[in-house]
Amino acid sequence: MTFAADQTPPVLAIDIGASSVKSALVESASRTIVHRLPSADIHTRTFPELRSVVERIVMGALSHAPALTRVGISTTGSASPDNVVISSGFYAGYQNIDWLEGLRLASGGRIQVARVLNDGRAAAYGTFLADDRARGQHLVHFVVGTGIGGGMVHQGRLFHGAHHFAGAYGHIKVDPGGTDPCVCGGRGCVELFAAAPAVARLAARAGLALAVPGGSGVRELAELARHGSEPAREAFRTAGRWLAVAIGCVANVCDPAIVTIGGGVVAAAQDGTGGNWYVDAAAAAARGMVIPRIGEHLIVVEASLLNDAALIGAAAAAAER
Ligand SMILES: [Zn+2]
Repeated sequence: MTFAADQTPPVLAIDIGASSVKSALVESASRTIVHRLPSADIHTRTFPELRSVVERIVMGALSHAPALTRVGISTTGSASPDNVVISSGFYAGYQNIDWLEGLRLASGGRIQVARVLNDGRAAAYGTFLADDRARGQHLVHFVVGTGIGGGMVHQGRLFHGAHHFAGAYGHIKVDPGGTDPCVCGGRGCVELFAAAPAVARLAARAGLALAVPGGSGVRELAELARHGSEPAREAFRTAGRWLAVAIGCVANVCDPAIVTIGGGVVAAAQDGTGGNWYVDAAAAAARGMVIPRIGEHLIVVEASLLNDAALIGAAAAAAER
């Protein structure tokens, strides 16, 4: 697909994950994906490889849409308000990175805007804009994958916090007496109980032997669940009930109109009949974690854009500048 020079050019959306990069051209008015570029794996987990992959994506996108000037980037780690990646633990050397400077240079000046958002926030914004149930509301969005992150939209705007680190939902302490260490250096964090590795651990404890160890086993576990394995379903439900503790903490503080949950664990836990073992358990338990006035209105649902929320959110943010 190519875009004529007299059309409003699309925005290039790039989603930098822990080991791969997804990208797509997004039509900015309708916020829909009009062309997907091939997903790329990052084998060395170093910034130089990541940079060359992203530059290749940009050059590929420019060949489809020569008038492209704007790039929205959703990234692991944290990004400052002026679109500099502050730090990310996943790629060696990926800190204090100004993507705009690099992409402007690589594209010979054709890329003029690069908006960079932390991936949880990009997904929250994409969900806020594209999910009919969330549109225009005060939204809290959880992303449950290898870890747990997310973001919050208040009065139509992303909430960043004073130092731009807001949204560390995965590190809400649900078991302060816990002994296992978390990646954050703390203990008792909810992601130790409710993210993908925890789901796999719960399954193993219930006697299910998964071929793939750790959090990657969640898709295999989902297959077992869909084939009727009650212990597999219960592993998702138990983890979902742990997430409910964190949902309750956030909801008690900010009284959201809607709580959406997305990410790989949620995608895996779809039961095939419109239900979701993980989300349904989280939603039911969350009501018991909040004061009645908030519980009366609390809506906890599976996010509708499970895989593309961060792309849509990053593209929308880039289109606004
Ligand atoms: Zn933690």
